[in-house]
Amino acid sequence: METKQFQAESKRLLEMMIHSIYTHKEIFLRELISNASDAMDKLYFKSLSDNNVGHSRDEFEIMLTVNKDARTITITDNGIGMTKDELENNLGIIANSGSLKFKSENKLDEDVDIIGQFGVGFYSAFMIAKKVTVRTRAFGSDQAYEWESEGVDGYTIAECDKETVGTEIILTVKDDAEEESYSEFLEQYRLQGIVKKYSDYIRYPIKMEMKHSRRKEGTPEGEAPEFEDYFEIETLNSMVPLWKKNKNELKDEDYNQFYKEKFYDYTDPLLHIHSKSEGTATYNALLYIPAKAPYDYYTKEFEKGLQLFANGVMIMEKCADLLPDYFSFVRGLVDSEDLSLNISREMLQHDRQLKIIAKAIEKSVKNELTKMLRNDREQYEKFFEAFGLQLKFGVYNGYGMNKDTLKDLLLFHSSSENKLTTLEEYVSRMREGQTCIYYATGETIARIDHLPQTELVKDKGFEILYLTENVDEFALKMMHDYDGKEFKSVSASDLNLETEEEKKEIEKKSETYKDLFSSMKESLGDKVAAVRLSSRLKSHPVCLTSDGELSLEMEKVLNAMPTDQKVKADRVLELNADHPVFATLTALAETDKEKLATYTSLLYNQALLIEGMSIEDPVAFSNAICELMK
Ligand code: ADP
Repeated sequence: METKQFQAESKRLLEMMIHSIYTHKEIFLRELISNASDAMDKLYFKSLSDNNVGHSRDEFEIMLTVNKDARTITITDNGIGMTKDELENNLGIIANSGSLKFKSENKLDEDVDIIGQFGVGFYSAFMIAKKVTVRTRAFGSDQAYEWESEGVDGYTIAECDKETVGTEIILTVKDDAEEESYSEFLEQYRLQGIVKKYSDYIRYPIKMEMKHSRRKEGTPEGEAPEFEDYFEIETLNSMVPLWKKNKNELKDEDYNQFYKEKFYDYTDPLLHIHSKSEGTATYNALLYIPAKAPYDYYTKEFEKGLQLFANGVMIMEKCADLLPDYFSFVRGLVDSEDLSLNISREMLQHDRQLKIIAKAIEKSVKNELTKMLRNDREQYEKFFEAFGLQLKFGVYNGYGMNKDTLKDLLLFHSSSENKLTTLEEYVSRMREGQTCIYYATGETIARIDHLPQTELVKDKGFEILYLTENVDEFALKMMHDYDGKEFKSVSASDLNLETEEEKKEIEKKSETYKDLFSSMKESLGDKVAAVRLSSRLKSHPVCLTSDGELSLEMEKVLNAMPTDQKVKADRVLELNADHPVFATLTALAETDKEKLATYTSLLYNQALLIEGMSIEDPVAFSNAICELMK
């Protein structure tokens, strides 16, 4: 018989298993039982359309058998089985290298409990077994095959005899070593405990032949009683899925444990929502909000969706229609009696019940988030750090269709509170006579805080929202206003914060310096739309703002996108007439036009740098400064 090699990835995973000093080796049983259960699901599913399956749903079962002398544990199922090809592909090339991939992409160190928290699958058997034998016959096939492996050296496949369809996995348990004992896994009570702990909710009965002891009948009165062994097949699991249990039977740990196993996360979720509904749609939902965004969350690869069960049988791994995009971070499952088992994906999309359930889920997620925001701000901020961006995209996408649902879930950094604030809180702090919600954009809070444009607004005592994400300003533009209070950028040309007198003063001065501004504009050409006297600058000589709807920040964001179309904001160079540099400029306008042009270019470049934008010719800029320093 030929020995075949494991595929490289599989070998690595296998090595991890064999050499694991993992303390929860017991999870091997959870993995094998879960595979058996999946295999039975598959066959059950077939039985709905195929009369040849031969047994009904209540005849599916998993049987555990222990032979202490031979040191074997056998896990038998009457599921769909595997063909020879499937044996080779499923067990030789492990599909579940997903956990390895996850590990390397996240640069997790070895300590992270990946074995415990990810579905490591079939290979976990090698944590306790020195030899694994799989005897299987696929549904629809007359020939059975035996796969056998003693670890990394490879495996063999050969024909074998097996009367019934299904799979039998025989583990030959490792010998006890000084520091590790494996014999415990041959104890029936230990196995019973493991099943209860991890696999209680499995829908199919997990049975084991349990050895008991009883007093021998017919022992004469007065004599010492004699005992005898007898065997009884018992069902170890309650078969009630977690989500069908009563809430008051369940602790946070139960929910969290279930989450981590089912959704391959290694951190507890921030929140779970367990709801039962018997109104227009009958369903149980178990929803979770993870503590962190998955590594691929903000990429195209990420697929949203909830697991969908029809009366306890999973019919879809990721049902996208159950979640709106802005709540795509929610993980969990929905189990409904109203759905038909063999409903197709296309039909499901139009299913009325499903739409009702989706609406209800959206509502309850929103309610729970609102509650968290009110009652546990710290927790909510953690949530927002992970998924706030998605909510903002939600406001922006679909032409602002969902802004009303989401607007009160948003947080922004506040200039006056120096922490995150909701829009409602901002509005409640608005001063008398304040009509707008002010915001400023930039790369970081610190950078925005130093922007010349914020001076006037701050001076007037108004709070400013600091926007640091690309999507922020787009989202605010999409909302237009909150509670009738318009959003206004501190760089907007129509800030309108001056008194009538101040306005007149500016007009007068602008008239006075008309020639200076037009010379400067001329030397800058079409780099700017205008050069203007500033009403917002206090201590800085210049800043760059924009006329019209397109801000400099939006220009930056849009131009960073991989399309050919580039946009340009109407840039305005604003000058502070009270700054000493301004006096220099006015003097140069009279005496040295050439120098005025150089200074104008310097000021323009400075304004660009302050905005966090790149300058066209850094070398020329640097040379011009050196010229001044000479
Ligand atoms: P996963 O279950 O995550 O896919 P595993 O390593 O546990 O990864 O199993 C690999 C594959 O082997 C399964 O996807 C399934 O196709 C097959 N398999 C494992 N155990 C059984 C079984 N008892 N009956 C039928 N197929 C099985």
